[in-house]
Amino acid sequence: MVSGMAFPIKVCAVCSEEFELRPDKPGFANRCPACSEPEPADPATKRSVDADERKTLKEANEARRSAIRDLLYRKDS
Ligand SMILES: [Zn+2]
Repeated sequence: MVSGMAFPIKVCAVCSEEFELRPDKPGFANRCPACSEPEPADPATKRSVDADERKTLKEANEARRSAIRDLLYRKDS
């Protein structure tokens, strides 16, 4: 074992996993690297926005289709 290579072992305050507290570890000192990652809410929010956009597009297409159908029916009668 090379002295100076060991880092203090900490227990993550979020997931209770043990991790090495490296001096260059980003984020909180009481959180493991995984729990120090930026909030995973960002991609989730983006996905939900994309889903909303798809839903809006779908609804717009359906509205256009039903409007065309109304026009055709009106022409028939
Ligand atoms: Zn953790």
